[in-house]
Amino acid sequence: MVWRNSMAAYTPMIQQYLRIKAEYQDAFLFFRLGDFYEMFFEDATTASQELEITLTSRDGGGQERIPMCGVPYHSAPTYIERLIEKGFKVAICEQVEDPKHAKGVVKREVVQVISPGTLMNERGLHEKENNYICSVTGFEDQTFGLALSDLSTGENSVTLVSSFHDIVSEIYAKEAKEVVVSSEFPADLLQTLKERMTITISYENSTEQVEGLDYLVESLQQQKLITTFARILQYLTRTQKRSLEHLQPVQFYQINEYMKIDLFSKRNLELTETIRSKGKKGSLLWLLDQTVTAMGGRLLKNWIDRPLLKQADIDNRLNMVDVLMKQFFEREELRELLKDVYDLERLAGRVAFGNVNARDLIQLKKSLQNVPHIQEVVNRLNHPYATKLVEDIDPCERLANLLERGLKEHPPLSIKEGDIINDGYHEQLDQYRDASRNGKTWIASLEQQEREKTGIRSLKIGYNRVFGYYIEVTRANLHLLPEGMYERKQTLTNAERFITPELKEKEALILEAEEKIVELEYELFLQIREEVKAYIPRLQELAKKVSELDVLQCFAKISEERHYTKPIFSSEDISIQNGRHPVVEKVMNSQEYVPNDCQMTDDSSILLITGPNMSGKSTYMRQVALTAILAQIGCFVPADEAVLPIFDQVFTRIGAADDLISGQSTFMVEMLETKNAVTNATQSSLILLDEIGRGTSTYDGMALAQAIIEYVHEHIGCKTLFSTHYHELTVLDESLPALKNVHVSAVEKNGKVVFLHKIKDGAADKSYGIHVAELAELPDPLLERARVILHDLEQSSEREPVHQAPKREEMTQQVPQEGASLVQEERADNKKADEANQLSFFEIEEKKEKPALSKREKAIIDRLKELDILEMTPLDAMNAMYELQKSLKKK
Ligand code: ADP
Repeated sequence: MVWRNSMAAYTPMIQQYLRIKAEYQDAFLFFRLGDFYEMFFEDATTASQELEITLTSRDGGGQERIPMCGVPYHSAPTYIERLIEKGFKVAICEQVEDPKHAKGVVKREVVQVISPGTLMNERGLHEKENNYICSVTGFEDQTFGLALSDLSTGENSVTLVSSFHDIVSEIYAKEAKEVVVSSEFPADLLQTLKERMTITISYENSTEQVEGLDYLVESLQQQKLITTFARILQYLTRTQKRSLEHLQPVQFYQINEYMKIDLFSKRNLELTETIRSKGKKGSLLWLLDQTVTAMGGRLLKNWIDRPLLKQADIDNRLNMVDVLMKQFFEREELRELLKDVYDLERLAGRVAFGNVNARDLIQLKKSLQNVPHIQEVVNRLNHPYATKLVEDIDPCERLANLLERGLKEHPPLSIKEGDIINDGYHEQLDQYRDASRNGKTWIASLEQQEREKTGIRSLKIGYNRVFGYYIEVTRANLHLLPEGMYERKQTLTNAERFITPELKEKEALILEAEEKIVELEYELFLQIREEVKAYIPRLQELAKKVSELDVLQCFAKISEERHYTKPIFSSEDISIQNGRHPVVEKVMNSQEYVPNDCQMTDDSSILLITGPNMSGKSTYMRQVALTAILAQIGCFVPADEAVLPIFDQVFTRIGAADDLISGQSTFMVEMLETKNAVTNATQSSLILLDEIGRGTSTYDGMALAQAIIEYVHEHIGCKTLFSTHYHELTVLDESLPALKNVHVSAVEKNGKVVFLHKIKDGAADKSYGIHVAELAELPDPLLERARVILHDLEQSSEREPVHQAPKREEMTQQVPQEGASLVQEERADNKKADEANQLSFFEIEEKKEKPALSKREKAIIDRLKELDILEMTPLDAMNAMYELQKSLKKK
């Protein structure tokens, strides 16, 4: 831009602006000018559009006027939030010296950079959601470190993974708002990330340890982890420029400690948001969320994200749910008590940032006073795990007492206007208050006294900010006042106001006392706040226990209300009696929902589900997966009985949601998801594949579907539910011993299809596609025509089922090491299968028109068969071929 070239031409203030802005290129610079934050140059033009505020200009010393726009400082938070919500960053630049004492331009500095991942303001944060910022560091050995922090709660974790796909999945699951990387980080990887989610990218090259915060990484063993976390800490320190004392020691975790549910599957199963609206409503989280604290709400989301793998850990949760479910009164009492527990984690964060007011601390006090009662109720449950959960709970009694003694019950929002601190808490404060009160009593009695003295009954004593205390006499009564009794101060239309030296003397005393009271109260409040700061780690610990109790009571409540059952874990088999899809059941009303069983053993590890569209195939598949996930997060499950293995991973390919953000076609997404499943699944995984191959031509699709089933059967052997409308595939049960056919039943009544939503053994007899089209009320002539075409097709191509599956020993294809090659190889194979199919199709057609082979042709074929090509020289072979072809061409 032109104006950047000639710095010297600008006024000193604009020069100061440009110097500061140069350091914060990626943020809007909110430059404090008196009561406004102003923006200049490009910042002003962009912000005026984004915030819909007026763009003006000012003379900055250069040739052209400088674009400018601004927002009043007191309403700045709203504007900042709007920019952050759009993924921008805002650097707050304050005046850091009193303008009265400034020589030349007032000194200004950036005091904080606010970005989507570092938002601390309550209004911009969702109560029941964490607000993560993360950093990714790539290492030479192709591993990646991922650090996650929630600045608002102080939570930190770090992990190391071996593929970027895992990084994307983790960041997606955590819904991180911002990622911090080195400026050297590969652009293509960042692109992949941006394609998958809305995320702000920030850069930080330093991975030095931050002084004074070493204790955060004390438990980390590997340098890679330390480096990864250091990057995020450097970024936070550089941008927040304040105490980060509330940050909690970093937790190391490994993604294989939890059931792995990749990005696609989380989306498909609608665990925390629905595919369509991207909102919580309609998701599993929405169904489950009966938590009553914000912390519990956030923990629930984390648990859904990370189902457990160790049975002992799962059982601990399940047992507690069981206890809480059976003891209704205790549970309800616990819920009521928890309702009064404030968001301790976020409070701790705001204490560290110096953002709490007295009302927050009163809430904290009430929360702490509730803790012993919570402890008592949980102990009454009389169960070892319950007791253990609360035995070392720390109610921070001393702090609760301090807050009780120190703070008034209903303090104002502002911390600078007094009326916060209790009487009897501080001697000096009490003295000032006495002085003020006495003064006021004196004044009140003065009014009575003067009325009697003058005989003016309407005489009154008032107060205003400009004149202080005064005696007011109405004009009508002025004649009753002896001349010179009081000193005249102000004349109004209907009255005169007076003062006396005595009154002014008392006034000075009162005002001085009040000023001192306000000052002292502020000071005392800050002291109390400092005391709270010292409790931060203990409050965070308490928050963990409270949130765990909250999620467990939530599981118990849901399980009781919705008649869920405690799952039992087996090593291999699935046996679900009357299982239901938790969300569909809730939405549609329990009476209408048709429960279904699911039986899968090692001998029937693949269920091939056929049935008409809309009959409930994918609902059935999802209900199995959701049941497994619910069980592994420690909640009861929607069924009458459920025996389940512990799954290490869940993979799904469900639905036809186009990946519009990344512009990938449905079919490509389908293949990517399938690749992910078949390359990563182990024997302990669960795979759901819904209508694979629908996105391409029939033969292509059918061939792929078959090859995938065979592959899973031969190479993985995990529990797999595969739904398809190609009922030709059902013959696979002859060649694949572990494959079992089931179908969703439908009946035809008066030529119309009625779905029974009931899963039954065996294959579906037909597809009912046209019936569904009829239900959708397509035009009658169109449906009629479809029936004719279908009839013709069925007549002309009584197609053979797709060729038999190769036996294990015939499968020459190696298990691919690298996922990328798999789809290609499979495609190549399937293409052959496809061609074979198409050939056989045309053969049927040709047979109809062409006569059988002639005798001569048969003889030529026989001679060809007899040739011993391996014993011939190339020239002999050529000659023989030439002869055979010549004979064939003879008419
Ligand atoms: P498909 O995968 O066979 O096309 P879906 O699983 O999408 O069918 O189910 C279609 C609709 O049928 C669902 O939206 C739901 O309303 C209903 N449905 C599915 N399963 C059941 C069930 N077990 N009981 C009652 N209604 C069901």
